[in-house]
Amino acid sequence: MRIKTSWNRRGFLGTAAAMAASVFAPRKLFSTATASTAGNVSVTGFGQSGNPYDELGVTTVINCQGTMTMLGGSVLRPELEAVMAMAGRHFVNIPALEVAAGKRIAEMLKLPDGYMALVTSGAAAAIQSGLAGILTGGNEALIRQLPDLTGMKSEVIIQKSHRNPFDHQLRSTGVKLIEIETRDQLRQAVNDRTAMMHFSNFANAAGQIKVDEWVKLGKQFNIPCMNDAAADTPPVSHLWDYTNMGYDLVTFSGGKAMRGPQCAGLLIGRKDLVANALLNNSPHEDTLGRSQKVGKEEIIGMVKALELYLKEDHDALEREWQARLELVSRELTRIPGVSTSFFVPDIANHVPHMQITWDSKISLEPHQVSQLLRNSKPAIVIGGGEGRPGLTMCSFMLQPGEDKIVAEQLSRVLREHSA
Ligand SMILES: *Cc1c(COP(=O)(O)O)cnc(C)c1O
Repeated sequence: MRIKTSWNRRGFLGTAAAMAASVFAPRKLFSTATASTAGNVSVTGFGQSGNPYDELGVTTVINCQGTMTMLGGSVLRPELEAVMAMAGRHFVNIPALEVAAGKRIAEMLKLPDGYMALVTSGAAAAIQSGLAGILTGGNEALIRQLPDLTGMKSEVIIQKSHRNPFDHQLRSTGVKLIEIETRDQLRQAVNDRTAMMHFSNFANAAGQIKVDEWVKLGKQFNIPCMNDAAADTPPVSHLWDYTNMGYDLVTFSGGKAMRGPQCAGLLIGRKDLVANALLNNSPHEDTLGRSQKVGKEEIIGMVKALELYLKEDHDALEREWQARLELVSRELTRIPGVSTSFFVPDIANHVPHMQITWDSKISLEPHQVSQLLRNSKPAIVIGGGEGRPGLTMCSFMLQPGEDKIVAEQLSRVLREHSA
């Protein structure tokens, strides 16, 4: 049920946070001394303060919730910004760039022979174009015809517990989703119309058929299998675990924990399927995926982001994330009645989290604390979550020094309402 609350959390954050944000004054995020220069370029007009969001009157927030698309995903490493800027200064043949970038990514990930990668505009685009490629093959007439499936397969099998908002990207190709729960139901559901078997990686625990068995059954029935693992790094090994397991296509978000460009993602899989996915995608016109343009800056950026991500010291990062939470915890647990505990979700946002609870000495409900912090200066986004009582936070999207601010603001609010 954890997943369900996480979708709700996304929805809840959306409108409420946007509305709250609009009425509060912007905060200064960057010091003004260096703010007017980006690299060696001095900026006048829009952006001259160093914070264009401030200039639009949109409040930037301290993010205790992790890599949420609703909050802008993640922030770019400076070295990645620099390489993306280089990419923006030239013209290039985009399909040729896509193929070259895909090859480089396949090498970096040491993908099995016969596997390839494609940079898409996000994991959602990878889901849609991956399936589109399976449906159309390389047939131009069929590519133009989507989402009219006349002459193509038309069904995708999915476990009932794996349904989620991103299966809209499957349905957008015109296919019908066939829900099953048991192995027997799966066997009965397979027929001449079956195009693909879809797996939602975060839902592994919820379904009767687990990730490794799903792909084995796919091979038995000779049906290609896709695994949507969009938010499922770390651990970094997930980038190759599922192709090694035999999945035909695997999708990842570029702009979540990998901290790539926000509008980038990866489709990794069998060469023929990945090539056909590209034919169904921008820059090719009269295609379903033309609306999911991925630019030269994002394609180059995704290669660089992956390089930087792979060479991180992942254990050191995890210790740093835990240390930030402990700093906040030390401050909060000095308040009578407040306690904290730590956990790491098994899959998706697999990073240190802290749950914060308090007893009746403090006269506030968790959603009220959350609201007060969203309205504080600086604004802090922290929610309930992961199906647990109280508030839950993670620290991997905090910028340097923000752990201290969170500790101070959160303890101020709790103390102000202590009996
Ligand atoms: C975030 C997410 C996506 C979409 O990824 P984008 O890169 O934002 O397009 C798809 N599936 C799941 C499970 C996700 O968490």
